[in-house]
Amino acid sequence: MTLPSWEIGRALGIPIRVHASWFLVFVFVTWTLATEYLPDALPGLSDSRYWGMGAAAALLLFLSVLLHELGHSYVAQRYRIPIGQITLFLFGGVAQMRAEPPSPKAEFLIAIAGPVVSFALGAFCLGAALAADWLSLPFGGQGFVVLGGLLGVVNVQLGLFNLIPGFPLDGGRALRAGLWAWGRDFHWATSRAALLGLGFGFLLASAGAGLIGGAISGMLHPSTASNGGWLMFIGAFLFGAAWSTRRQASLRLALNATCVRDVMIRAVVTIPSQLSLQAAVDEFFVAYGYGSFPVAEEGRVVGLITVQDVQAISQGLWTWRTVADVMRPASPELFIQPEWSIMQAMELMVRTGFDRLVVMEDGRPVGLITGSAVARFLQLHKA
Ligand SMILES: [Zn+2]
Repeated sequence: MTLPSWEIGRALGIPIRVHASWFLVFVFVTWTLATEYLPDALPGLSDSRYWGMGAAAALLLFLSVLLHELGHSYVAQRYRIPIGQITLFLFGGVAQMRAEPPSPKAEFLIAIAGPVVSFALGAFCLGAALAADWLSLPFGGQGFVVLGGLLGVVNVQLGLFNLIPGFPLDGGRALRAGLWAWGRDFHWATSRAALLGLGFGFLLASAGAGLIGGAISGMLHPSTASNGGWLMFIGAFLFGAAWSTRRQASLRLALNATCVRDVMIRAVVTIPSQLSLQAAVDEFFVAYGYGSFPVAEEGRVVGLITVQDVQAISQGLWTWRTVADVMRPASPELFIQPEWSIMQAMELMVRTGFDRLVVMEDGRPVGLITGSAVARFLQLHKA
């Protein structure tokens, strides 16, 4: 989405943003309510009343969506997951979580918090509408009943729709939590839940297409066409989101399943630590063309030297400085085992900021794993 969005305030410390596409829905909802729904439900009012009530109802509907997202956010924050922002857009709202949930239980509670809020709001609005109806309030009391009933029904629908068990809908997240607890593999669970997301996305889009077809052929009322279009839109959106989730999950699965041994550079040449930089450049960097070498001292790896480390020293000093002077000294974070997964290697690289690690086996360096080797693997895997 490249359209702009604007921050309209904060709640629970989270910036609330409104995406440009939101205004489209706002206008559409207001227009539908003011010209069709309200004149049917409350005949005999002025046009300006209908438009005013329509706009108020549209705003309250979006407030409902915002409260739904705040429900997710509140529980996520209880699990110390930072929320980047909440964005209201064409298809409702989305709370951007900055980390994955720590456990299946956390995932489940965060997922159902949104629908729980929607059902509570729905019950409250319907209850208020029924009470107002029973009391037969004067002065626009009937308008209150109609709007309350509408908001109540829409909130219940919102809760039900989000419980569809296809990732990334809330029901799909709850399902992922269950699969995760059962299979003990987060990415596998994500991949399965997203597969159902693909299925439900396809079903919704097909149902939408069916409604449009029915309206065109005259079997259904012409007004069902707009519902059909909306359903197709939402189905396509769900399908697309599930598709990219699945791709990511399968990539992560591959990264977890592939070990460092299969991707590492096997030709390991070590540089003696007391060599001058000039000799290191001539006899190693130029001669082999590698970007880095483990540094050895009495048969032990004591560090790593890269082209950048050498480049940081002015050329006039190369004869006077040794490899040991400029190398990155060995620390436990510099070494990994060949059995580690690529995922673990990448996590270590991100955590330490090293873009290359020495693969050790039985105390000997047997390979190097570099950021570019991992990137190459990713590229091949994508193809
Ligand atoms: Zn939700």
